[in-house]
Amino acid sequence: MFDYLVVGAGFAGSVLAERLAADGGRRVLVVDRRGHVGGNAYDCYDDAGILVHRYGPHIFHTNSRRVFDYLSRFTQWRPYEHRVRASVDGRLVPIPINLDTINQLYGLSLSSFEVERFFRSVAEARDPVRTSEDVVVSAVGRELYEKFFRGYTRKQWGMDPSELDASVTARVPTRTNRDDRYFTDTYQAMPLHGYTRMFERMLAHPTIKVMLNTDYREIEGVIPYREVVYTGPVDEFFDCCQGKLPYRSLVFRHETVNAPVFQPAPVVNYPNEQPFTRVTEFKYLTGQEHPRTSIVYEYPCDDGDPYYPVPREENAELYRRYKAMADATPGVHFVGRLATYKYYNMDQVVAQALSVYDRITGAKRPAENGRRALASTVAAAAVQPTV
Ligand code: FAD
Ligand code: UDP
Repeated sequence: MFDYLVVGAGFAGSVLAERLAADGGRRVLVVDRRGHVGGNAYDCYDDAGILVHRYGPHIFHTNSRRVFDYLSRFTQWRPYEHRVRASVDGRLVPIPINLDTINQLYGLSLSSFEVERFFRSVAEARDPVRTSEDVVVSAVGRELYEKFFRGYTRKQWGMDPSELDASVTARVPTRTNRDDRYFTDTYQAMPLHGYTRMFERMLAHPTIKVMLNTDYREIEGVIPYREVVYTGPVDEFFDCCQGKLPYRSLVFRHETVNAPVFQPAPVVNYPNEQPFTRVTEFKYLTGQEHPRTSIVYEYPCDDGDPYYPVPREENAELYRRYKAMADATPGVHFVGRLATYKYYNMDQVVAQALSVYDRITGAKRPAENGRRALASTVAAAAVQPTV
């Protein structure tokens, strides 16, 4: 008899399995329908021997010391600050839009003070700021919105930014300085030996058993367990009885190129002309040295593995109905990006999983960063939920 069945071996499932076994002394069965652990953060060596992320680039960043310290038990880190360029008007310029973006795009040499004035002169007031279009147009005006955000968002989400919650494009700031890092979090690093190795170490506990290539429905009624941690899509758990929750998918086209370097930045975004949204060159992320280089193109689509919840009011409304059902299902804990329908980064999922563990064990934690961390608050302190 297992104490817990954990459905999904991604961040949500692996953190809970590790805590339940190593801290709680529970017997845990982890199942995943894929043939590997790590969920969407899975990485592996491709045929050329280059470490790649099968499901697109995963860059670790967090402001939460608790999350960073927790993961540090299972991996060493390689310091890494992510940088992205956007292909706009035939140039590769920094995104998030910063002082250099404007100067390079328009052939100017504005100062920080002048670019602030420039943004103010082109920005269109929006009150309230409700949609993803409002966020950008009210910060940098219509022209920059159209160059950098409109096309990219329409491709990525299959809908116009005006149809998406503000939280989506609000993930990308605007800067008047020359900081060209994609993130400004306190902790920014990549697992030294990759994500998969880190997951293997989390799950390598004598009271954790892992079954891959297994949908949990295949073992329901066959293997006994007391409680469930569910990290798959929440609508699927309830047989989509309230209707299907939309998740956006991607097709990944991986390639290895016969040259040591392919592009001048780790990620190049293509807002406009191309059918793909971005191209990632993995060696920048991992620091690996190799005479060849591997890249991945991302093509957004509707059908396929569920990668992104789609943040908009009508979906939030449908999710609330599933959440009410989840709350009324005793003995099943819903955790993670798919099961709580939240556009969470990895660190937010780890924080959420640690909070759920606290809740399961009734533990109370001291405040982090001066804020009170309520065990019942799903997104842990210092980790901002984006939805
Ligand atoms: P998942 O990783 O999706 O794991 C859920 C697991 O459950 C899956 O392995 C699935 O196979 C399994 N499962 C589902 N249903 C069943 C079932 N019925 N039976 C058995 N198993 C089942 N975050 C960052 O912080 N930085 C980034 O740079 C970043 N980049 C990203 C890029 C892309 C393209 C994507 C899609 C996401 C990115 N993320 C990034 C987000 C990150 O992937 C997620 O926050 C995190 O992986 C979510 O973990 P999870 O455990 O909730 O879900
Ligand atoms: N975005 C955009 N242009 C860019 C980068 C981002 O329009 O060059 C928008 C787009 O809607 C995207 C969202 O901002 O989905 C969030 O970007 P982020 O890089 O956080 O996306 P993720 O890495 O989660 O795919």
